[in-house]
Amino acid sequence: MTNEIVNTRRGFLQAGALGAAALGLAPAAVLAKPALKLGPHGLRSLARDFEGRLILPGEDGFALAAWPNNARWAGVQPQAVAMCATEADVQRCIRLAGDTRMPFAIRSGGHNYAGFSTTAGLLIDVKAMNNVKLDLKNQTAWVQGGANNNDVAAALRNYGVAIPSGRCPTVGTSGLVLGGGWGFAATHRGLTCDSLVGTELVVASAASRRIDANSDSELFWAVRGGGGGNFGVHTGFTFNVHPVGTVTTFNLTWAPGKQIELLRALQALQLAHPTRISTRSKALPLAAGPRPSRDSLYVETLGQFWGGEKELREMLAPLYAVAVPQIADIYEVDYWRGRDYLLTDDPNGLYDIRCSFVHKELSEAALDNMLNWMTRWPGGSLLQENMGILFAIGGKVKEVPSNATAYVHRDSNYIFEMEASWGPIDKPETVQRQRAWLKDYYDDMQRFLQPESYVNFPNRDLKNWAQAYYGTNLKRLSEVKRRVDPHNLFRFEQSVPLA
Ligand SMILES: Cc1cc2nc3c(=O)[nH]c(=O)nc-3n(C[C@H](O)[C@H](O)[C@H](O)COP(=O)(O)OP(=O)(O)OC[C@H]3O[C@@H](n4cnc5c(N)ncnc54)[C@H](O)[C@@H]3O)c2cc1C
Repeated sequence: MTNEIVNTRRGFLQAGALGAAALGLAPAAVLAKPALKLGPHGLRSLARDFEGRLILPGEDGFALAAWPNNARWAGVQPQAVAMCATEADVQRCIRLAGDTRMPFAIRSGGHNYAGFSTTAGLLIDVKAMNNVKLDLKNQTAWVQGGANNNDVAAALRNYGVAIPSGRCPTVGTSGLVLGGGWGFAATHRGLTCDSLVGTELVVASAASRRIDANSDSELFWAVRGGGGGNFGVHTGFTFNVHPVGTVTTFNLTWAPGKQIELLRALQALQLAHPTRISTRSKALPLAAGPRPSRDSLYVETLGQFWGGEKELREMLAPLYAVAVPQIADIYEVDYWRGRDYLLTDDPNGLYDIRCSFVHKELSEAALDNMLNWMTRWPGGSLLQENMGILFAIGGKVKEVPSNATAYVHRDSNYIFEMEASWGPIDKPETVQRQRAWLKDYYDDMQRFLQPESYVNFPNRDLKNWAQAYYGTNLKRLSEVKRRVDPHNLFRFEQSVPLA
């Protein structure tokens, strides 16, 4: 059964996947930045005693090791990729970075949308450190800093327990948890960071520290939503695991028409059952091409219900009253089979993304505006699947106070995300038009949205990014940063500013 439903969903998704891997088109401003050359002496000193592998340009595996998920940043080439195998390797890298002040970036899964895990200096990659150890007695799991969602799933799936995590199999646990961590379990169990009970990290002095709520409550507060790359290189995380049983997963697709009524009914469904259901709903065009008409936009929702199929079908009655879906895949399955069904393909392409939060719901006027913007899409080679998505992130996430962890967006019901994606065939002027569309669309939607943004969906052009990512928690985060990283070793374009 698993194969059957996974295949169905994959086939459906592939119609508009982000596109094939593409040649890098990093913004000129990034490529123009001069790289501080480390020099052969520095690299030799790092390579000495290195237990993993230091990979230099031109060596086997370099291109793959340097390649980020968003190919927009693939032109940002590191001087070396330090594929760390141990915590001691990470310490060697940080010691060298501290001594030479050379630029560096940390990478785990490599999925940062804005290229913050790319660098023209040293790329410190922990991906190979991907062990997961389950402690059933204490109902915890230790996840090494390089493990991704798939590694965690493989270690837990036979034991009836799970950690709330995201949809993409190769997103790193590090990036996910440090920024918060949305997934289909969030409304029921909380964010990924809400299950974190401790973490090990190599800080600016190159010392390794293990922190939790007792040993350094402020830093532990900061790493739960403060974003990756700010306080140190995390080498391990301890999570509480949660028992899981049967869930009902669903994928419903409606033919074009009644988009506003359907999206309103989907929001009503979510808000009526805030902790029992999780929806990811959107409108999208049937085909690639400029200016899709309103009557070519269809509605899709993908989700998970923490209950049985019969009850879900009853709950869906108001939606069926608006319109009967063309596709209605509804499966009562074991949690892990459901997770497999809900996985996203692993897109690897060229894209730009923006997001805000929705306080309660998108009104009729807001949805009308969103659909109008979709019809103004300037065109390009790819079908746009992600022009406007509502990720449910209320429920349990809202039960935690906004100042209890650095993740501040606790009074919202949705992340609203919009995206433009293109392929190598699209000319620079086409891409420019798409990105201008994205900016204007985003700006125009702000009157309906919270002036906030999810640090795990970052954008380099975001004005007031620090306020948008951290809001009222910004000052406290900066104070932690000043104490833990006083010389701002861990810095990049949108790192937490020193107070
Ligand atoms: C296809 C796709 C699907 C996604 N799906 C979801 C989803 O379902 N839910 C969700 O919440 N988000 C999702 N995201 C966003 C994702 O959570 C963030 O991009 C996340 O930060 C990626 O983590 P990473 O380790 O893969 O990326 P990386 O690019 O390796 O790291 C992200 C940031 O964390 C830093 N970092 C990485 N490792 C460490 C470490 N060990 N210690 C300290 N800092 C580190 C990096 O320097 C960078 O700033 C998705 C992204 C993509 C591209």
